[in-house]
Amino acid sequence: LKSIVLIKQIPDTGEMSMDPQSKWLVREDVNKIINPFDTYALEEGIRLKEQHGGEVVALSMGPEHSKEALKEAIAMGVDASILISGDVFRGADAQATAYVLAKGIAKISEYDLIIGGIYTSDGATGQVGPAVAEHLGIPHITGVRKIREISETRIEVERLTDGGVEVVEAELPALITVVKEINEPRLTSLKGIMKAKKAEIPIWGMDDIEATEGRVGETGSKAKVIDTWIPQRSKDVEMLEGSAQEIGKAIVDKLKTAKII
Ligand SMILES: Cc1cc2nc3c(=O)[nH]c(=O)nc-3n(C[C@H](O)[C@H](O)[C@H](O)COP(=O)(O)OP(=O)(O)OC[C@H]3O[C@@H](n4cnc5c(N)ncnc54)[C@H](O)[C@@H]3O)c2cc1C
Repeated sequence: LKSIVLIKQIPDTGEMSMDPQSKWLVREDVNKIINPFDTYALEEGIRLKEQHGGEVVALSMGPEHSKEALKEAIAMGVDASILISGDVFRGADAQATAYVLAKGIAKISEYDLIIGGIYTSDGATGQVGPAVAEHLGIPHITGVRKIREISETRIEVERLTDGGVEVVEAELPALITVVKEINEPRLTSLKGIMKAKKAEIPIWGMDDIEATEGRVGETGSKAKVIDTWIPQRSKDVEMLEGSAQEIGKAIVDKLKTAKII
């Protein structure tokens, strides 16, 4: 069974800020992590390899420092990692990203299952997985919380919906996106860290993936971010004084005044 896991390196969510001019996330000089959902995707890929044999490859499109995330994936247990990078890919919306990733996957050529996170903690469109599958002409199942069965030709999963759980099957090759309920991602091992240190991460550009100019990066993106801001939390605090009864009454009065009750 050959799996390809899609991972995105993102700024550590506690430290996010926006460039006021470009409206892009500031990614330099901040601590970076693998998008949390993608660590569950990596764990699932590695488990499938351990249970069924085969291979698992991590793939990312991003700036050169995304190599750190791809090395971490190797330290966790994937066999190889590939980065698609270059200025031409910068400023991509979800659709342009999906196009590029699909071209990268087409170059890898042989695969049974593609695994991604349900969404990222920065862009958070949740479109990339399904759009990659559409480009490749394969089925996709989102929000997977459990792989029930997998064979060489078929996958059966449980997916989490707002109302409960759905059991869905698809023919392979297919793409799934996963939620946190699916597993508990492992920590990197010392052996894995040593392997990752030595690992070469190939960087693919436009020619390698045979991408069409105008379909990638900012020029290939039909959605433009017009404005972004991080809501500021009010720090106004009022301390109530008095007996428990007086404080209780004061809270009820305030909630009534604010029309909350
Ligand atoms: C040079 C360069 C600079 C970039 N700068 C930025 C930036 O400043 N801000 C930014 O948000 N993005 C940046 N990107 C990446 C790209 O624009 C986003 O990945 C893309 O728009 C994804 O949208 P999303 O986060 O809403 O994904 P979602 O659809 O929410 O992601 C769902 C899942 O798709 C997969 N996925 C998503 N993006 C990628 C990816 N890039 N590689 C592999 N798998 C992926 C993951 O499994 C993820 O869990 C940059 C890329 C390059 C090449």
